[in-house]
Formats: sequence, structure tokens, C-alpha cells
Amino acid sequence: MTAEEKTALAKALDLADDYLRDGYACDRGEYAFTEDPPQNSVTGAVFSAASLINASPSRRGPADSLEALKADICGCTACPLHKTREKVVIGDGPGGPLVLILGDAPGREDEEAGKPFAGPAGELLDRMLGAIALSRGTNCYLTHLIKCRPPEDGNPSAFQTAAACAPFLKRELALLKPLVILGFERATGAGIPEAFNFLKTAGIPFFSTHHPALIRSDEGLKRPAWEKLKTLSSTLTGLDRDYAGALRTAGRT
Ligand code: SF4
Repeated sequence: MTAEEKTALAKALDLADDYLRDGYACDRGEYAFTEDPPQNSVTGAVFSAASLINASPSRRGPADSLEALKADICGCTACPLHKTREKVVIGDGPGGPLVLILGDAPGREDEEAGKPFAGPAGELLDRMLGAIALSRGTNCYLTHLIKCRPPEDGNPSAFQTAAACAPFLKRELALLKPLVILGFERATGAGIPEAFNFLKTAGIPFFSTHHPALIRSDEGLKRPAWEKLKTLSSTLTGLDRDYAGALRTAGRT
């Protein structure tokens, strides 16, 4: 198949996919297909079509990209939250970050802004990161376990939606390859839902502490959160020479 034929077929498949989901076409960005080598046999033609289906931007596989991931999240209807969300809250930050920062689920301010960690809790987070020479614009990628805001009455609960949403975070991890993960728990003592246990076995140092929204309402949580950040910073120093230098320059060592 030519690249043009593949693009036309992929667009038609994605359009049908969007129609079946919710009737709205989702922006999937540019399609980037290459020409197939000449094929003389019927078998070869069948394999070409199969490889096109796997490479479609709405599919997961070796050709995955952040753009494809964002388009898939944007069109997701895999759990009941798609009916109540006003906006999907996708991850935000540079590729290849030092730290992947994880909240549990977007709050109202995140949904309004369309970005994770918006509002006063996000401002506190920025100050916490700044204290150890990190920032969301340069070396941290921010995202949530669950990409759509759960209703405030807790129904459906985050745990009901967790399993459906977990594959998106797996793809984020595979694409971003952060050096460490920092997870924020909104409710003291709340653990990571079982569907996300892969976070702890991914071979990436994992830290967790209290969510900035909780720290804002309880001064007593500041000290343990700061101790956790210091441990994270010291781990990063051993993993990335540039970070160690930035920390020295900022006078944080
Ligand atoms: Fe899809 Fe996750 Fe949103 Fe549920 S919360 S609709 S699984 S993106």
C-alpha cells in the first residue's frame, strides 16, 4: 500500500471508531505512514493490511506516541466518567522528564484548566518542586491515575474507574521513561489502587507523600512531605549529573 492509501484507510477506521464511541470526531494529529515494499503475493497484501491496523494512531503498539495517547484519552468512553466529565485532563510537561508527578484524579480546578494540578494546590506544588530545583515546565511531567474528574459525591468511585484507566498510565510511563515517580495521595493513608500496582514494579524509584491540597489544610503534614522530597532529590542526584549541578547552582545542597 502507498502512504496515501494507508492514511485514507486509517482516517476512515478512526472516524468509524469515533462515531461508535460518542458521535464526535477526535483530533488525532498527523498520520505518518511509510510506503510498503512491493508485494506480489496475496499473503503479502494481507500482512500489509494487518500492520496498518496495528499502526493506526488509535491503537497501542510500538508506533505509539504522546500525540496518539492524548487522542485516545480524549476519545475514551471506557468507564462511566466519560458521561459526567466536562473536559479530559491529560498529562502536561516535557518528554523525558526527571520526575513523573502523579495525582489520583483531577479536581474541579484541573478540569476547568484542562491541566493537572491547577489552582492553589498547584501553586503550592510549584513551590515544593522549586525548593529542590524542579519545575513543571522543564523537568517534571504531571498527570493523574485517572484522566476524568469523578463526581464530588464519589459515585462512581475512583476505584471503579481505575482498572479501565490504568492502560493510559502504562503508556505514559513507556513513552516518557521518567527517572523517578512521585505519587500524591489525596486522603491520608489512601493507597494506590490495585490496578496501578505496576507502578511499584516498573523498576523506577517510587516515592509517595501527601497531596498539596491536604498539606494546605494541615500544616503538620509539611515536615513529612519535605523529608520525602529531600529523599527524592538525593536519589535524583545519583541518577542525573545535570540535576546534581542544577541543585548546586540553586544553592540547595
Ligand atoms: Fe476513559 Fe479514564 Fe476517562 Fe474513564 S476516567 S472515561 S477510563 S479516560
